[in-house]
Amino acid sequence: MSISKLSKTDFKEFVDGLLSSGKMVMGVQAHGERFAFDVLKSAGDLRLDYDVTILPPKKYVLPQVETLLTYTLPEQYKSQYQEGEMILLGVHPYDMAAINQMDILFSQDQYDTHYMLRRKKMTIIACDVATPSKNVFAASMGTATVHEGYDILLTDIGDAYVIEAATDKGRSLVQGAAGLANASAQDEAARQAVWDKNKIELNKHPLKCKPSDIPALLDKAYNHPVWDEKARTCFACGSCNTTCPTCYCFDVQDDVSWDRTAGKRYRAWDGCLLENFATVAGNHNFRKARADRFRHRLYRKGKYVPAKIGGRIACVGCGRCITACIPDIANPVAIYNRLVEDLGVAPKK
Ligand code: SF4
Ligand code: SF4
Repeated sequence: MSISKLSKTDFKEFVDGLLSSGKMVMGVQAHGERFAFDVLKSAGDLRLDYDVTILPPKKYVLPQVETLLTYTLPEQYKSQYQEGEMILLGVHPYDMAAINQMDILFSQDQYDTHYMLRRKKMTIIACDVATPSKNVFAASMGTATVHEGYDILLTDIGDAYVIEAATDKGRSLVQGAAGLANASAQDEAARQAVWDKNKIELNKHPLKCKPSDIPALLDKAYNHPVWDEKARTCFACGSCNTTCPTCYCFDVQDDVSWDRTAGKRYRAWDGCLLENFATVAGNHNFRKARADRFRHRLYRKGKYVPAKIGGRIACVGCGRCITACIPDIANPVAIYNRLVEDLGVAPKK
């Protein structure tokens, strides 16, 4: 790991250099009063002071729609893979933590070649949060800072960025940047101050238990009335799924030519709150009741996925579902805190 520093003026030059290198760069930009990852065309458009993006950067690691293979019968099948390299610029720690979770999920059990190849071609430049969003609670979930997964981590310390190059890819990207200097002890102290502040301030919805208490809490909550109460006003719109950086469910469909001699197989985002998510052959829907789907989302985040990824809770506290949910029922903290109040936190084993 190498820690250096670049003034904001030199950083802008560095970004312009990335853009002129021909690499595809996706960076955070303003869209009215909100922010989104989009193709970056000019360093001047980059907004590393953003609060939160509308959609998480998962849209690049797991695209909304992705062709997996094309075929022409009788026997020509061709897997389709994304061409070219991509730089993701400005990934916040909680979103990096979510990508780290997906990296585990897509490489264990069924190794997902499409996902993993795309990840290998991706360079991630993360950045610490400079402006807390109105619903963030990453500090409660242990994701206000991140120390793995990225190639480069940027921390805004006022007139400059502290730049941590954590991988060979990251080091080769920054080496030679005009104005790059070793970070001083004072610069590193300024970065630590940002981390310390964010571990307190990124917490608009404080969780009343430790994240590690959640799986045992849910063990006792399957028949709790909160699921019916909340689901009564749920539109089943799926916005809490699509805006979530840790939701990774997809549906696989075939698009077949009229004469059935050619076609493509693609996957597209799906969401467990959508009415037909659990519909199977014979039109049997094994999670038809909205309350069952509402509960399932919270159990996925707090119990089922953690069991697959070493106990990490599959909610990173970005707060996007809270902002996206019109009836204001999606806030995971509100639900977990209600369960803590009603059921108590299970004694630690
Ligand atoms: S965003 Fe809210 S209303 Fe829409 S599915 Fe999720 S919980 Fe239901
Ligand atoms: S459940 Fe909500 S707060 Fe948690 S990671 Fe998903 S969108 Fe963010």
